[in-house]
This record gives sequence, structure tokens and C-alpha cells, in this order.
Amino acid sequence: MRYAVLAEAFEKLEKTPSYLGKNAVIAELLKKTPVEEMERVVLLLLGRTCPAYVSKETGVGLQQLKKAVAKASGYSSSEIDKLMKQIGDLGEVARNLLEKKKQVTLFAEPLTVKKVFENVKALPEITGEGSVDRKIAAIAELLTSSTPLEAKYVTRTVLGDLRVGVAEGRLRDAIASAFNVSPDSVEHAYMLTTDYAVVAKAAAAGRERGLEKLGLSVGHPVNPMLAQRAEGGVDEVLKRMKGEAAFEIKLDGIRIQVHKDGEKIQLFTRRMEDYTSMFPDLIDPLRQTLKSKRAIVDGELVAIDPRTGKPMPFQEVLKRRRKYGIKEAIEQIPVEMYLFDVLMSDGDAWLDESYTKRREVLERIVKPSDKVIVVEQLVTGKREEIQEFMSKVLAMGHEGLLAKDLGANYRAGRREFVWLKLKPTLETLDLVVVGGLYGKGKRAGFFGSYLLAARDEKSGCFLTVTKCGSGYTDEDLKELTGLFKKIQLKKPHPDVGIEIECDAYFSPRIVFETSFEEVQISPELKHTGRYGLRFPRYVRIREDRRAEEINTVQEIAKIYEEQEKRKAKVHGRGLTQQRQKRKVEKR
Ligand code: AMP
Repeated sequence: MRYAVLAEAFEKLEKTPSYLGKNAVIAELLKKTPVEEMERVVLLLLGRTCPAYVSKETGVGLQQLKKAVAKASGYSSSEIDKLMKQIGDLGEVARNLLEKKKQVTLFAEPLTVKKVFENVKALPEITGEGSVDRKIAAIAELLTSSTPLEAKYVTRTVLGDLRVGVAEGRLRDAIASAFNVSPDSVEHAYMLTTDYAVVAKAAAAGRERGLEKLGLSVGHPVNPMLAQRAEGGVDEVLKRMKGEAAFEIKLDGIRIQVHKDGEKIQLFTRRMEDYTSMFPDLIDPLRQTLKSKRAIVDGELVAIDPRTGKPMPFQEVLKRRRKYGIKEAIEQIPVEMYLFDVLMSDGDAWLDESYTKRREVLERIVKPSDKVIVVEQLVTGKREEIQEFMSKVLAMGHEGLLAKDLGANYRAGRREFVWLKLKPTLETLDLVVVGGLYGKGKRAGFFGSYLLAARDEKSGCFLTVTKCGSGYTDEDLKELTGLFKKIQLKKPHPDVGIEIECDAYFSPRIVFETSFEEVQISPELKHTGRYGLRFPRYVRIREDRRAEEINTVQEIAKIYEEQEKRKAKVHGRGLTQQRQKRKVEKR
């Protein structure tokens, strides 16, 4: 398959702002794609050469890529820099320069999808002496045989920023319409495999039947099941779970899915990143604890402060591991793995079994040790017992309870009311950062506040809901500025609706947990999400959360409604009390 077909689709996608329009372009491309090319095309559409859970960067920076463009186009680095200042996108610069050169170059052989895929995929493997030059040469080779349009997208692919607005979620509907299968089956298959390339291929080859055949496999992370909030506390839990539920400690750590295949152990985060090398201290204990030969189990990795014996904020743990190196951190901050679910063991998949059955299997296949523990659990329907358990858990330093429906199966990737979070504290929102504004005075030179957005369930776009300028320590301001400067864009990202002018814009990728006092209707509707937050405060970065998983505008609307209802009640009661007081005074 010629790469030109893909490049033309990218170009159409860039020029098509609407959700449905983009879907039609992707579906058309998928229909044209031969089955044996499907995985490559889908991954390239997502701007990658491996599924998201294999973390591999091309290792090529902007400067090196500029050199490759110079080499392929025959223009000097300073000419490229000049054009970059005008255009701001190296992809367009490459296209421009190759267009000028077009008259003199005859393309020997048309560029194929396979060639681009393989050259880009090989980039991380080019290491050792002279690797920088060899990488530049490999990219220049692609660019030399590219048409100007192809060069634009080869460049953007290597940079890891396609800017055509194909988020993972979009592929679900496009695959469904391309191959005439239901979006639900596509989603279900994706939740089990976490790889749209595999899903698209199965749909292309076998339609619904093809999708049904996809299942769990060790080494391929499954989208974890998530929990809803029990806004109405214990009452809501007991009502939804028909009078009885399993209550487990809600640990504040990092969600980890453990995959065991013989001696091999892999740890995947909730974002499906491979964290195995981050926690070498857990590998042996897990090998010994899991009695099955092959298994996928689910749990929370928790760090315990050796001085207090209480769980530590996880952000702190990751920070220290990065700062001091893993060896020292292992001694300073021991970690423990708390298991609460099993997805498969040996030949059996347990996803469709009830919670009760899965817990029974989990207890059977785990031989608990001091580092790998099965989460404490209480099955009850009695309020006093639940309250008592909650108090005990809070005193231990945990954040609350998770109530689980005894009859519910494991719903990969779903956030439903069969797992409910019971927390005593004020909730926070997870929002994605889409813009930054420079600070003044002490904060000069740093981004002093960030524009945050929630996801719109309907369009999949990100709409702004607050500007957040407090809650940052001096160290946070410095670190965040460094982080965001590296990824800043000149214009708002195409997936973001912004009406507030910022000094820099960002791809919607980094998620801030943000506390607030109240939800309000955005004053003068400055925010495209229509709601705003009063007194927003930065709490922390949520590295474990993808932009697709953040709070939605619709959820914020619900919080607003609940809050107004509560206020009306209090206000109403206040008025009645006042009226009664007046009556009393009259008498
Ligand atoms: P949240 O991140 O606020 O949506 O809460 C759900 C998260 O709580 C899960 O993704 C887990 O990381 C974490 N968690 C902690 N303890 C448990 C537990 N016992 N069962 C399930 N999830 C838990």
C-alpha cells in the first residue's frame, strides 16, 4: 500500500474539524486498507508504531529532525530555522522545502506504508556510537523518497505529534462503520486487547465473529475496571447493591495489573504503561506469591513510609524514584502490592464470573507474603459495620472504602455503579491542561496559571472550565514550566475549544487533579465548557490518568445541579426557620 494514501487521509483529517467528518475519512481509509496492512495503518493513524502500552520513543528531537530535513531538501539549517519561525511546524516546513525542490527530483520508487512504518519503528533500536547520525540518515532516506505531502506527515510522525485529531476513542466508531460491526463490540474488544490495530484487523478479517475471538492474553494489558462515586454515601451503596456488598480498603497508590507468564512478571499501569523496571523489588515476591503459572491479577501498589508505617502519597514515590534512582528508593521507600481481583489464571478467564467467584479464585492462587497481600475485605449490609470499617481504615491512613457488587462481572475499561467509591473527604476533579499563562513578580518567567479543560462526552473534545493559579509550590512552578515548555504549541490544539487567550497552548495530554470550592456557571460564558470552578487549587499531576479518562463537562454539570439542590434545601430550611422565628416573635 502506498504511503500517499495515508498522507492524503491525514491531510483530509487535518482539514475536517467535525467529529463525523473525521470518522468518515478514517472509515474510508480503513475500507481501502488490505487486511495485512491494517495494523500498520491503524498504528500510523495514531502516530505510533507500537501499541500505547509499549513505551518507545523514537529518540529523535526537533534539532535532529531539522538536520534530516536539511539533508533531504538541500536547504541549510538557518533557512529551516527561518521558515520554522514563520510557520511553527516542521512538518509544513518540510513540505514547503520539498515542494521547492520538486522540479529537480524524480521519485525513484513510491514510498510504501511498510517502509515508513519499519523505518520509524527501527529508530529507537539505533543506539551506540554514531547513532544520532544514523538516525538522521534513516529519516532523510524516507524524506528523500517522499512527495512534499508525504514529507509533512513523515516528519510529524517522527516527532510524535501528528496534529490531525485522531484520538484513540475516535477509532471505535470509525472501525464500526468501516466494517459494519457494532461500536460496543469494537469497544469490548479494545478493552480486552488495548490495541486498536489488533481490533481493526480482526474486524476487517472476520467482522463481529472476528471481534468475538479476541480475548485476554498474558503480556497484553487489559483496560482496568473503574469505580463510580457514591454521591449518596452508604445509603446509595446499599440501595444499588441490593442490601449487601463487599467493602474493601481504598488504597491510595497506583493501579497495577500484574501479568505472570512462567518466570516472567510484567507490571502495567492503568494507562497501560509498562512499569516493570520501576519496581524490581516486587518482581521476586510476585513470582513466589502467585501460585498459578500464568495469571493476570489486578491491584494497587502502595508505598509505606517506614517512619510512620502509613501509606505515602504516590506522587512522592515516583518523584523520588526518578530523583534518587531506583536502588536507594527501594531502601528508603518500600512498596507493597495489594491484590483485589483476578482476570485470568492458568487456562481460565474469569472476567465474566461474579465478584464473589473471582475473590475466591484470587484467595486460592495467592499465597500472601509481607510484600504481596490480598486486600482486606468485609462482606456486609449492616450500616454500623460499614461505619466501623470506614473509621478503622481512615485511622490507618487510607482514603476510604470501595464497595463492590457481589454479583458483578469484571467490566474492563468501564466505570459503572457496581464498584462505588466511598470517601469522607471533598472530591477533586481531574482536568487536562490546555493552555498556560506567564506569571508576574516572583513568578515571572514561569507559567503562573494554567487553563484546564474537561472532556465533552458528546464530541470527545476538551472544553475549558477554569484557570488555575494556586496550589503550586515554588518547586512545582519550576518543574511544571520546564515540562510544559517542552510541549508548547503556538495555536490551540484542534481537539480543544478555547476562547481565552493564553501565552502557550498544549496538546491535551497532562492531567491535573484540582480541588475547588464550588461549581458555577462560567461568568460571561468565558469558558467553552460553560461551567467554571470557584477557588480552583492544583493538587497534583495525575500521571496515571489519560485525557480520555478525565472528568467530563456533563459530570461537572451534575455536580452543579446537586450543589444547587443542596443549597436550595439549606436556603429553604433557613427561610422556614426565619419565618417560624417571626411567627414566634409575633406571638
Ligand atoms: P479513582 O482513581 O478515584 O477513580 O478510584 C479508583 C481507583 O482506586 C482504582 O483505579 C484503583 O487504582 C484504586 N483502588 C484502591 N483500592 C482499590 C480497591 N480495593 N479496589 C479497586 N480499586 C482500588
